[in-house]
Amino acid sequence: MILKLSDPVNKLPRVGDIYAKKLKRLEIKTINDLLYHFPHRYIDYSLLSKINQIQPGETVTIKGKIENIKSEYRQFKKSIQRAVVSDSSGEIKVIWFNQPYLINTLKAGKEVSLSGKAKSFAGRLTLASPEFEIINSQRSQAIHTGRLTPIYPLTAGISSKWLRWQIKTTLELVRGQIKEFLPYKILIQENLINQYEAIKKIHFPENKTALKRAQERLAFDEVFLPQLAAKLRKINWQNEKKALPINISLSKLKKLTDQLPFTLTNAQKKAVSEIINDLAKNRPMNRLLQGDVGSGKTVVAAIAAYDVWLAGQKTMLMAPTEILAAQHYQTIKNIMPKNLKIGLKTSNQKINNNNFDILIGTHALIFKKKRPSKIGLIIIDEQHRFGVEQRALLIKKSQKQKSQTYPHVLTMTATPIPRSVALTLYGDLDLSILNELPSGRQQVKTWIIPQKKRENAYQWIKKQIKNYHSQVFIICPLIEESEKELMKNIRAATTEYKKLKKGVFSNLKLSLIHGKLKIKEKNSIIKQFNQGKIDILVATPVVEVGIDIPNATIIVIEGAERFGLAQLHQLRGRVGRGEKQSYCFLFPSFNVSQHAYQRLQIFQQNNIGVKLAEMDLAERGPGEIFGTAQHGFPKMKIASLTDYQLINRARKTAAKIVRQINQFPLLKKKLKKYTIKLVEPN
Ligand code: ADP
Ligand code: MG
Repeated sequence: MILKLSDPVNKLPRVGDIYAKKLKRLEIKTINDLLYHFPHRYIDYSLLSKINQIQPGETVTIKGKIENIKSEYRQFKKSIQRAVVSDSSGEIKVIWFNQPYLINTLKAGKEVSLSGKAKSFAGRLTLASPEFEIINSQRSQAIHTGRLTPIYPLTAGISSKWLRWQIKTTLELVRGQIKEFLPYKILIQENLINQYEAIKKIHFPENKTALKRAQERLAFDEVFLPQLAAKLRKINWQNEKKALPINISLSKLKKLTDQLPFTLTNAQKKAVSEIINDLAKNRPMNRLLQGDVGSGKTVVAAIAAYDVWLAGQKTMLMAPTEILAAQHYQTIKNIMPKNLKIGLKTSNQKINNNNFDILIGTHALIFKKKRPSKIGLIIIDEQHRFGVEQRALLIKKSQKQKSQTYPHVLTMTATPIPRSVALTLYGDLDLSILNELPSGRQQVKTWIIPQKKRENAYQWIKKQIKNYHSQVFIICPLIEESEKELMKNIRAATTEYKKLKKGVFSNLKLSLIHGKLKIKEKNSIIKQFNQGKIDILVATPVVEVGIDIPNATIIVIEGAERFGLAQLHQLRGRVGRGEKQSYCFLFPSFNVSQHAYQRLQIFQQNNIGVKLAEMDLAERGPGEIFGTAQHGFPKMKIASLTDYQLINRARKTAAKIVRQINQFPLLKKKLKKYTIKLVEPN
């Protein structure tokens, strides 16, 4: 039977359903997944030592003969296995724990290779729990000892030893299936080893140089493929899609901008003109507006929608939560002329949703039954919170069927995206960046509050509320991010709310808001908070993104160390939106580690979103920046998104090859993982 890479792992010899189930916990479902389960580190057992030269503390490999071995039982089903191993230079004691079956394999007289750390026990040199391999005459390649030995991310019931054997045999079984997908000329130009070699050597490198070569190749793939996919998307978007040009002169927009309660920042003006420029073309815009929290993206989006309205077209704006949709509805309604009809559509609220110039809503917009006509512009707020597919669906829905024209698309995000990530993952989007905050904003003062100062902090907050009518957010710790565990967050927030209400803040007006409240309740709470009728709003971490309450000046973040820096920055952005001095209190958990504490100190001293995101990226990888967001791209296992040199190199290569993609069907097939799937919901 020939195994295919896409076959489920339980087709492999010695992997039954039970192991398949365990492997699934490591996200290994297919044979290919198994081969792409890379070691997270290696132990260097390549130093081969004579027994009489070993020093205590050394990590060594010895080759010798088992003189004797026995297993001794101890209490409570525990056991110890003792052996003596010799080579031409001397003898050494070897022990293992709780592996009585070893005496069936490691019999006296066998030649073995042992790798481990030598320790001195009661004055005698001992190898404790070494990796072992029986040296047999066929001289098959060692995988556990005497080499750079791979150590894998594990789960209960799966050991590195098991994985090594499994991966080794699988590699031999499917050798012919691992086909090179990079064009030969790229391998040559970029001096990369081939795919099969790279996979083999990432698991079983013969030395450090070989390992480096394998890592180089695999890292290249990880940053090359998404960039190539993005370039391809961009070409498709620009060459094949047509849009209705919306050609309104900037001066006509003055009517709107002149009556805003503020003047636009230079960054906002620049973004507006970039957008207006794009809209005037007969190619659909595909632009990402990135701006730190509070940088004023909404008004930029509103101006774009106004532009579209002047041209007799319509706009749909999709926001990730009902609260945000309702808030945008209010904000945009307030600044638009009276004769511009604004609609709202969420799963619970419908206003003018069939007769609108601008329709604002949640993902409920996607499921609109009536296909809206004349949609000239789609705006997607906090775009990373939507799946790639949801975005694509909304666009598709607004596509004008007969004429085949596409709407212009503006996506917005407050997530600071480091340049490298933008290039790699969003290479097909044009970028507008709001890199300045409206004038008059003061930096939010950030303090880390140790446990023993907590009471003082509460008293200080109380005084602020009393003397200045300050309003406060209290964000409860992030317990679990997954949807399933959302309830835990809500329970924790509820407990905290009750405790504060009974205790230290008993004389104040407190409210609790979380994701499972009905939208009416949520809206009413936000409204009351907005009107200053609530002093303290206790919230779960997920509910708050994007809420704009200029009067809130204090935010308390419980369990602060559990958040990524970029996430903390988003939370901090809930305050400091007006002209008053604002404060952010970080309450770390009781037994926070030194390292976590230092991260909070970095956060305390740093106010620039992109900087913080870059630090997150270096420390925790891109997942952290986007939180639970399903940005829909395969994980990077080897490449670092802080490696600009590699990213640039891959980008140049992608640019060279993108127009010849049809000559390389294997490469093209690889890009599938990075492309958008379109599925119409029923
Ligand atoms: P975000 O970029 O986080 O979505 P918003 O669009 O919610 O930010 O804007 C934050 C606040 O700043 C709002 O209250 C908005 O009215 C205000 N704002 C926006 N632009 C300006 C400006 N140029 N000058 C002063 N305030 C502004
Ligand atoms: Mg916003």
